[in-house]
Amino acid sequence: MTDYQDVFNMLKNHDLSDFTADEEAAVQANIAKMQAVLDNKQVDLLETTINELAASIDAHYMVENDVAITYKKGLIIANKNNCMPSSYAPGESAQAAVAFSQMAADAANEGLSLNDFSTYRSYSGQKSLYDRYVAADGQEAADRYSSRPGCSEHQTGLAFDIGGSNSAAWAETTFDDTEEAIWLANNAYKYGFILRYPPGKESVTGYMYESWHYRYVGDIAKTIYDSGKTLEEYLEVE
Ligand SMILES: [Zn+2]
Repeated sequence: MTDYQDVFNMLKNHDLSDFTADEEAAVQANIAKMQAVLDNKQVDLLETTINELAASIDAHYMVENDVAITYKKGLIIANKNNCMPSSYAPGESAQAAVAFSQMAADAANEGLSLNDFSTYRSYSGQKSLYDRYVAADGQEAADRYSSRPGCSEHQTGLAFDIGGSNSAAWAETTFDDTEEAIWLANNAYKYGFILRYPPGKESVTGYMYESWHYRYVGDIAKTIYDSGKTLEEYLEVE
């Protein structure tokens, strides 16, 4: 129940100000439904109800639904097996941006500089990036460190690539042992971010260790962090 409450807290605070009246009404109806499910402890309805709420929010950011977005516990899953429609364009998450600013301010108080050097990436932006990597390294190598268009977590607007003061180490393995990387690994969950591609989990996440790639999940981050699991393991998805 608390997992669902945590994700619900994030979803119900989504900014609906640029939604149409119909879109907003659909979201509000699903918020009311989810609140009732939680209040009445209708455990068997939690999963479908929260996923419907998440989907009704994301409908605003799509013009077509040719590929279905995958949700589990109301969280969007973007990985090699779960891709998104090319038209899905939510932009950088406002909630994640606020959380990052708070985290960067707290890190600055400890003398550390955090930079979110890459956050939201559109489908077409990811396509040109991936095409460039394939041209340089070949497809097999590129697939280990880059996503195919439509499958990048950066398209969700919830993925933040974070670096320190040395921009030469951004998105490089040289970032791994920096003070900033260690601080992030120990503290990011307090701000709603989880390390998305931890070391030794390539067979689960599909990606090599990325000490800089964090995913915003909101309040549930602490539970996931404490579990020691990857997002795939925690949500039991492949
Ligand atoms: Zn990334």
